[in-house]
Amino acid sequence: MLNELRKSNQARQDAWPGGEEIDLAFRGLELGGEAGELLNKLKKLTRLDRGIQGQKAEEIAGQRGHLLRDIAEELADVVICADLIAMHLGIDLAPEIPAKFDKTSRKNGIPVYFGERSTLHNLAAEAMPDDEKRGLYSKFKVERTDGRSAPGEKHHDCEYFVLDMDHDEHARAAIEAYVKSLEDAEQYPGLAADLRYRYL
Ligand SMILES: [Mg+2]
Repeated sequence: MLNELRKSNQARQDAWPGGEEIDLAFRGLELGGEAGELLNKLKKLTRLDRGIQGQKAEEIAGQRGHLLRDIAEELADVVICADLIAMHLGIDLAPEIPAKFDKTSRKNGIPVYFGERSTLHNLAAEAMPDDEKRGLYSKFKVERTDGRSAPGEKHHDCEYFVLDMDHDEHARAAIEAYVKSLEDAEQYPGLAADLRYRYL
């Protein structure tokens, strides 16, 4: 669906009169505007549901259904505008959403991951809390020794995958593949040499 949205956004953007004047700042205002429209409808719904004064009498009768319809439309606008920003910056949003969803699950220790298959797998794992049957989960708390994983620093909230070199029989193969990738790319030769010396 997101791929379809991107194609449609691109096609419409190409045809939009004055579109050549649109920059990132405008896209930001656009998203903020749509978020504001959504929040205003949510305010009206909250006001209606709680009986808070402020609605015109003729607005109250039968308004909830209309408000829900409006809210659905504004939510759609927000998603469309979010994709326009991603498009402007060359970001492919489709893989970002499951990745970010799963990152939040891991961060909060909730074994529910994006997509039916992984969700079912991880829910089953919850019933059988055994490492061999479990999928990815937050087993370690990783902190950089240079302080750069602190809030506001470049590596805050980065993802790390930890290998147990003493007990995981597959860890060596993973290190071997990593070293080969480093050597093929001719990058970090010192790291590649150290890993090879220590683990392979
Ligand atoms: Mg709107």
